[in-house]
Amino acid sequence: MAASPKPMALPELRPVTALSGVGPALAEKLAKLGVFTVQDVLFLLPLRYEDRTRIVPMGSLQAGDRAVVEGEVQLAEVVFRGRRQLICRIADGSGFLTLRFFHFSGAQQAALARGVRIRCFGEARRGPLGLEIVHPEYRRVDTDTNGETEDALTPVYPATEGVAQARLRRLATLALKELGSEGVRDWLPSGLLKGFDMPTLASALQYVHRPPPDASVELLSMGLHPAQRRLAFEELLAQHLSLRLLRRNIQTDPGWSMPARSRLPAQFLGNLSFSLTGAQSRVWHEIEQDLAASKPMLRLVQGDVGCGKTVVAALAALHAVDAGFQVVLMAPTELLAEQHARNFASWFEPLNVSLALLTGRLGARKRAETLAGLASGEISVAVGTHALFQEQVAFSRLGLAVIDEQHRFGVHQRLLLREKGQASGRFPHQLIMTATPIPRTLAMTAYADLDVSIIDELPPGRTPVKTVVLPESRRVDVIQRILEACQGKRQAYWVCPLIEESDLLEAQAAEETASTLAAALPGLTVGLIHGRLTGQQKDAVMAGFKAGDIHLLVATTVIEVGVDVPNASLMVIENAERMGLAQLHQLRGRVGRGSQESTCVLLYKPPLTEIARERLGVMRDTNDGFEVARRDLELRGPGELLGTRQTGLARMRVADLLRDADLLPRVQQAATSLLEDNEDVIAPLLSRWIGTGERFSRV
Ligand code: ADP
Ligand code: MG
Repeated sequence: MAASPKPMALPELRPVTALSGVGPALAEKLAKLGVFTVQDVLFLLPLRYEDRTRIVPMGSLQAGDRAVVEGEVQLAEVVFRGRRQLICRIADGSGFLTLRFFHFSGAQQAALARGVRIRCFGEARRGPLGLEIVHPEYRRVDTDTNGETEDALTPVYPATEGVAQARLRRLATLALKELGSEGVRDWLPSGLLKGFDMPTLASALQYVHRPPPDASVELLSMGLHPAQRRLAFEELLAQHLSLRLLRRNIQTDPGWSMPARSRLPAQFLGNLSFSLTGAQSRVWHEIEQDLAASKPMLRLVQGDVGCGKTVVAALAALHAVDAGFQVVLMAPTELLAEQHARNFASWFEPLNVSLALLTGRLGARKRAETLAGLASGEISVAVGTHALFQEQVAFSRLGLAVIDEQHRFGVHQRLLLREKGQASGRFPHQLIMTATPIPRTLAMTAYADLDVSIIDELPPGRTPVKTVVLPESRRVDVIQRILEACQGKRQAYWVCPLIEESDLLEAQAAEETASTLAAALPGLTVGLIHGRLTGQQKDAVMAGFKAGDIHLLVATTVIEVGVDVPNASLMVIENAERMGLAQLHQLRGRVGRGSQESTCVLLYKPPLTEIARERLGVMRDTNDGFEVARRDLELRGPGELLGTRQTGLARMRVADLLRDADLLPRVQQAATSLLEDNEDVIAPLLSRWIGTGERFSRV
């Protein structure tokens, strides 16, 4: 292995104050952006570009163009159109353009005198007088000022408090110059990029900070230029490596090896009224093997809503209990925790496995009792919410943590739970269940700290949910449909709109809907559930619905995850146009759990936006969670779908998981090769792209 150069000797690791013009005050502002070294300046990458290299004739300007124009002031006057404003008309012989200012000084107005030549930059929009630019950047072009345009596309950097764009541009230019002919150190071994047609690191950086005059704005703004791809590759590699290291670190810690002595799981399977699907069995065996190993399991189980992840979690839990360990099951909401507790209790009681529910709303006495039971080891399985993270919660011998519906938990929380479970230097196994399925290469990158299992099969006998999309003017017909379903011994959900700002308003809206529906459906019992009810109230409602005493359950989106009432076969979702695809799919997953034909009615309020129309179309066209996720990725991009909290990937600068998905297999290979043969380049790569955040303090 080649000796690695001493990092401090590298020119790019000199402090940013080495650049001329950077004093302590500016250095302090830059530090807030995570910019400490010359290298950090170079890797603060432009978000987009503006073309100020040429002057566009006004006659060829189109609405939406961001462009430089130059012309003579024909007229400037202050007018009142609702508010005081300065209107200035300029012309260049090919056409004219209006400039509009809402904030302006007297001096500014005086300077824009008839006949003065000015050059401005801004976005042209359609206005009442033809094309206009509101608050353009502009300056006079006189004989005494230089009239040159920029010689390269102008990069626009991430907004930075107190540091102007022009300054960032200058800094980048200085930093590039500072490195001179040496360029910045390329840590990637030369073989790694073989077969890729990519520029060197130094020229990629040069290109993105100072694109040449002939560079294409289109290509650059789509992020598809080879220079950007070169950087994206390295960024994805760094991100992926950070997760791989995290996982390697965790797995070098000792875990509990649980012998494959499957008395309880076998009994449990014998008591079930069904047998496992092929996919469930396969995943269960993967988990069983992990639990037998002496390193802590870190496994993500992906599977569409209704594929039967809970049963698999129960098997894992019983296996751990059988080996003499305690288990926690964490759920994202109280409603789901309660339902899991009920489910598990009915499964575990016949097997004499003790179980307790631990949520934030437990009474003091009950809580103390539960805590004591967990500390003594008397309670084998704890089901709960975030309350399980609290300091007072201690376990006697925690062997397995199951985290359900992972999209609400982040990497940090998982690490916390792991620390909590540590006992005599050993760490618990972790099993994470998610119903947000994503394509495999994406999963392998975004969840590189985890092994991934996929349950890609639904239990037999399910009939796919039929989805219809209707405007809300059809509400009366929909209510009639509910009546028919419930008279036919079926049950139904009515999901009220999400009101993000206020769960009180949301609850009130749901109450109103419930009473309107109760009035319209006198023969039926209408129940109501929302986030503002107490735990007991929620329990009572859910029990009533489960028992069939409630025909129609009016609910807010609290029922999004986990709720399982197989006899419910009709779901109406109001204002469906406001919800995201993942959420709609989760909600729809509450029906279609029995053998009867189920229907999901998506009610919308016209007019639909383009994206809402597409989303509803996807819902109508497919029931397949992987397909829904794929379309969701296309519509929203992975940043929003996965979120940084969920995936453990930090926010990225140039890379985009979806756009650059074709790079991912190579990124994985490259990461493996570096971990095996070139470990010493990993740390400098990580500090370049990720910095030294708390997550990596362990690395
Ligand atoms: P999810 O994967 O969404 O968490 P659940 O675990 O809640 O799904 O399972 C959905 C429903 O399917 C439950 O009623 C469960 O009892 C049932 N189920 C699970 N596995 C099977 C199976 N192999 N055969 C038949 N029904 C099953
Ligand atoms: Mg579930």
